[in-house]
Amino acid sequence: MKVLIPFTGAGLIRMDLTIEQNCPSCGASIVLQEDDRLIRCGYCDVNNYRLESVAARYLLPSKLPDYIDPMQLFFIPYLRFKGSIFYVCAGEVGHKIVDATQIGIDEQKLPISLGLRPQAMKLTPVTAAVDGVFFQQTVLTKSAFVHAAKVTELFSGKSEQSIYHRSFIGETLSRIYQPCYIHEGMVYDAVLNKLLGSAKWIDRHMDKTCSSKISWEPQFISTICPECSGLLSGETDATVLHCLNCESLWHENTKKFQPLSWQVVESDDPLAQYLPFWQISFSVKGSSLTSFGDYLRFTNQPLLITKKFDLKPLTFWVPAFKLNPKSFLQLSAQLTVSQWRIPSGCKRRLVNDHPVTLNQKEAVQAIKSVLAVSTLNKSNRLPLLPQMTIVDAKCELTYLPFIKQPHDFVQEHTSIAVLAAALRFGRKL
Ligand SMILES: [Zn+2]
Ligand SMILES: [Zn+2]
Repeated sequence: MKVLIPFTGAGLIRMDLTIEQNCPSCGASIVLQEDDRLIRCGYCDVNNYRLESVAARYLLPSKLPDYIDPMQLFFIPYLRFKGSIFYVCAGEVGHKIVDATQIGIDEQKLPISLGLRPQAMKLTPVTAAVDGVFFQQTVLTKSAFVHAAKVTELFSGKSEQSIYHRSFIGETLSRIYQPCYIHEGMVYDAVLNKLLGSAKWIDRHMDKTCSSKISWEPQFISTICPECSGLLSGETDATVLHCLNCESLWHENTKKFQPLSWQVVESDDPLAQYLPFWQISFSVKGSSLTSFGDYLRFTNQPLLITKKFDLKPLTFWVPAFKLNPKSFLQLSAQLTVSQWRIPSGCKRRLVNDHPVTLNQKEAVQAIKSVLAVSTLNKSNRLPLLPQMTIVDAKCELTYLPFIKQPHDFVQEHTSIAVLAAALRFGRKL
């Protein structure tokens, strides 16, 4: 029997921003997508990896009239969130894709959001060479984030107390600056040269401005294998790179490539596709969940819980790639419940692999939501979530074989299926 993960992402527009970036090696102009990490330059043929740890800052393009000097520009910060929100409240686990901008200063005379504008134009990264004045963000990132979640109407009619858990997964947080200028006492939007109103409000913000800084610029590292000096390779949106020379996997942490612990569960089918999962072991403070048997009892699975399950340590299986939220949670919950069917893996040559596009930290964030989704007796168990804290999480990357069928990929040992369209859609999240 095939277990099918439903997919409801069809018809959504591409949300990625388009960025015009100079090649860090030769300066040539490269157009890339917001989530691209591995930047290939067609001119100098050098690959660079864009650091995730530096929160991106982008400018909307300005078209200035001749009588305005670029030095007169000032830039208003907007915070941008893109990702999935999971929430757990009485008897239900919900999710929503969020793609929103929110003004980063406290000023009611300006639009609260940038609307679809950032998606409609080519953005450029902020560099230290940009003329003009930058308004500093004064709205706390976290409160803006929660506000963005609320404006999606996700929580309408639900009080904060009734929400047992909320997490943001696969999120991109960046700042997008709206250029403006003042002409004859009036403020203009420099993207369209549109009048925004009187400039009277500007003065009260002027002590919270600065010039752009070098530390705001995107940072890159070279894609050389730290082990053997071979070239690391990967898809442009991959956050884990592969050295084909010494068969090692690397991810960026503290501005360096660090080695990853990984394994492959083998298949006899030479055409099998290997999807990456974070196999996460962890402890739970505030609960007696320690073994796989405990988990099966907590979630009330219709399984005979034998000693074998009580001796098996608790691990969760979370996709190491982006998917629409519903498929992500269900795939994760189904694999976690069925993990006893999966044989152990080994180190071997990695082929036909799907890129890793969701990092460990985000996967750990999903644990409580996955627990909630796999729980069958929701009304008894979900109220226990707030007192549970996930600690000591350790992730190992495990590639599982999936066999391609006309419309989906089916996991060989568990028969759990993911729609091919959901995988494709995930690359665009
Ligand atoms: Zn170049
Ligand atoms: Zn190597």
